[in-house]
Amino acid sequence: MKPKLLIIEDNEISMDLMILLLNGLGLAVIPALNGPAGLAIAKSEVPDLIISDIQMLHLDGHAVLKALREDRHLAHIPVVAVTAMTMVGDGERLLDAGFDGYLDKPVNYEELKMILVRHLPAWKGRIFTYEPL
Ligand code: MN
Repeated sequence: MKPKLLIIEDNEISMDLMILLLNGLGLAVIPALNGPAGLAIAKSEVPDLIISDIQMLHLDGHAVLKALREDRHLAHIPVVAVTAMTMVGDGERLLDAGFDGYLDKPVNYEELKMILVRHLPAWKGRIFTYEPL
């Protein structure tokens, strides 16, 4: 069965880039353009991994994470934060807040692959050889 990835991202360019990179890795992506839509899709699809933007109106990445963790059907899903890191230690703070991992914007192909190998259950331990884009 193909792994299911939910991307929650309110910036369309960032979303398009993420879809392009993930499709390039052979992964299907379910996009959600805001937090409430992301939570609704998480409930209906129960994805294998959720990658969520932090800065979003109405329901930001932290609120999305909290709602996921409070839902016993969704609490087990790994959640990776995506944000424009501005200060040293921002990444550590995201881990302290309960995210399983984090990615810097703009998302980097190599870092994305590392995150997938670490957090996408079906890809755990997978080894990549170098392949130019
Ligand atoms: Mn945003």
